[in-house]
This record gives sequence, structure tokens and C-alpha cells, in this order.
Amino acid sequence: MSNKKILVTGGAGFIGSHLCEYLLKRGDEILCLDNFFTGAKRNITRLLNNPNFELLRHDITFPLYVEVDEIYNLACPASPIHYQFDPVQTTKTSVHGAINMLGLAKRIKAKILQASTSEVYGDPQVHPQKENYWGNVNCIGPRSCYDEGKRCAETLFFDYWRQHNLRIRVVRIFNTYGPKMARNDGRVVSNFIVQALRGEDITIYGDGSQTRSFQYIDDLTIGMVKMMENENNFIGPVNLGNPKEFAIKELAGKIIEMTCSKSKIVYKLLPEDDPKQRCPDISLAKKELAWEPNIPLEEGLKKTIEYFRNII
Ligand code: NAD
Ligand code: UDP
Repeated sequence: MSNKKILVTGGAGFIGSHLCEYLLKRGDEILCLDNFFTGAKRNITRLLNNPNFELLRHDITFPLYVEVDEIYNLACPASPIHYQFDPVQTTKTSVHGAINMLGLAKRIKAKILQASTSEVYGDPQVHPQKENYWGNVNCIGPRSCYDEGKRCAETLFFDYWRQHNLRIRVVRIFNTYGPKMARNDGRVVSNFIVQALRGEDITIYGDGSQTRSFQYIDDLTIGMVKMMENENNFIGPVNLGNPKEFAIKELAGKIIEMTCSKSKIVYKLLPEDDPKQRCPDISLAKKELAWEPNIPLEEGLKKTIEYFRNII
């Protein structure tokens, strides 16, 4: 049983709310911070009565003064439509937000984990992606506010480590899905499930041959906590994702079949800079953290479809 004081920024979002719940169950005291840009109170409603849970409305682009043992820095819009809605704010959240959270960690000597992303590899020319691949990122495109913001945040984390000996951890999260994803956030799994359940057209961007690797939320939560707590002083960056790769067309077929939907597939324009392939090499996580995902796509999709069936 652990009983640390833990700050989770972006704690009312999809991943953050699952992490808060997991840590609370374990006996930790949680300070959940969010500005509710993409997060939602309903994600954390059932945590609000827990005496070990505290909610703080705050924007991490402004300084914060609290006392905690660990910080999970997750605050940042994560889906293309949301991070492109106000790109300047996205960069500010990634960069100023990281500076504020790192400054806080330095002052109170807390350990701090950054939720980075597979987007740091851009449209990768090396496949699958290993952590030592530097990536292929456009620095002036519509995805750059997110990709470059997250890359700069990694730079800041490593400079605080080199310069100030801060105890850092960096995880590069690959496409993650599960209950509590926002139904309107435009990500492929939530879009396809909602469209299939409503009998609307399934929108494939491009010809659907682009690939992604989908990780169920519970696998990620365990990976993040293992990374924060590893005793080998392993700071990363480390890929956390499911190495099973699917074409987007295949995903659409699977979801139509599992929902017994009458929806038909329509093809739309592929967004600019949309990566053609993405798949993590997770040998480093296996070696350093003894971690690998356990939940196959069908099993995770079943739970996610059930969730969306209930809320639609
Ligand atoms: P999400 O949008 O559900 O959660 C992000 C949360 O951060 C939201 O609750 C939002 O309100 C909050 N937020 C945004 N800007 C903020 C600010 N300036 N101050 C305070 N709070 C702010 O997204 P998610 O999928 O839960 O992603 C969480 C983290 O994981 C993000 O940092 C994202 O980049 C990273 N990530 C997610 C995925 C994925 O597949 N879901 C993949 C790679 C990386
Ligand atoms: N996508 C799609 N239809 C949708 C939403 C997304 O075909 O309704 C595609 C998108 O173009 C991308 C992939 O699915 O190739 C994954 O998109 P998502 O936004 O979920 O994640 P990311 O592109 O950030 O990996």
C-alpha cells in the first residue's frame, strides 16, 4: 500500500482520470489539476467523495505552488482537432506548462513524469520506432504545435535533469483508447465507435492503409506507474504502446462487425502530415520495466463499445 501525495495535471482528461482512480485505489492522496479544456467533471465524479481526492481548477501555463511527492504531467489537449483549435495555447501548455511543473518539482524536490507522445517521431521513416530514432517532424505544419511542443518539453525535462539533478521520467505514449474518451474528440477509435453505434457513415481519412497501434488504457496506466516507480533510475524516454499494428481500414471493419452496425464506410481527405505508419518497439520497456501490454484489441474494443453504448 502506497500513501504518497501525487499531483496529476490533466487529471480530468481521459488518461488522467484513469490514473487518478488507479492511484487512489492504491491508497495515494491525489491532487487532480485541470483547466477543463478537454477534460470533464463526469470523468472524475465518482472520485469527488473520496477524502483522498482533491480537485483544483488551474491552467499549468501559470505557476503553481503546492506540496506533493510526485507529479504526473499529463495536461495537454491530445486529439488533432483539439490541439489544433488554439495552437498557440497548445505550445504554451507544452512548453510553459513543462517549465512551471519542472520549476515546482525542483522547488519541492518531487519526482516528475512527462506524458510525451509517439508524435515526437512525426511521420517516421524508421519502422517500428525505437527511442533512439530522432524522428521526422515538420516544424511548421498544423500538427507542429503539438509535436514540437512535446519535443521541447522533453528537452526541458532532460535539461532540468542534467542541470539540476531533477528526478525525471519521460514516457512516449502511443495511441491509447478506452472508456472515458471524449465522444467528440475526433480520435479514430471514438469516432468509429460512435459512428457505428449511431448508424452514421464511418469516415476513413485517406485510403485507410495508414497504420496505428492501439493500446488499451489499463495497460498504459500500469506502464506509467511502473516507469514513475522504477528503482533503477531509468529515466527514459521509453515507448509505451501496443506493438500490434493495424491499418485504419482494418479497424473500421472490426468495429462495424463488433457493433453489428449497418454503417457504411466513406473516404475523406487525409489530413496534412498525417503519419503513414506508427508502431512502437517496446523492447526497452520490457527490459527496464518488465512491462508489456496484455489486453488485445478485441477485448479493449468490447469494453469501449459498452461504454459508448451507455453514454450515447
Ligand atoms: P485529454 O484531452 O482527455 O486530457 C488532457 C487533459 O488536460 C484534459 O483534461 C484538459 O482539460 C487538460 N488540459 C489541457 N490543457 C491544460 C492546461 N493548460 N492546464 C491544465 N489542464 C489542461 O487527453 P488524454 O488522451 O487523456 O491525454 C493525456 C496526456 O497524454 C496528454 O499530455 C497527451 O499529449 C498524452 N498522450 C495521449 C495519447 C493518447 O492516445 N490518448 C497519446 C500520446 C500522448
Ligand atoms: N482517422 C480516420 N477517421 C477518423 C479519425 C481519424 O481515418 O474519423 C485516421 C487519422 O487520419 C489517422 C488515424 O485515423 O490516420 C489515427 O487518428 P487519431 O486522430 O486517432 O490519432 P493520431 O493521428 O494522432 O495518431
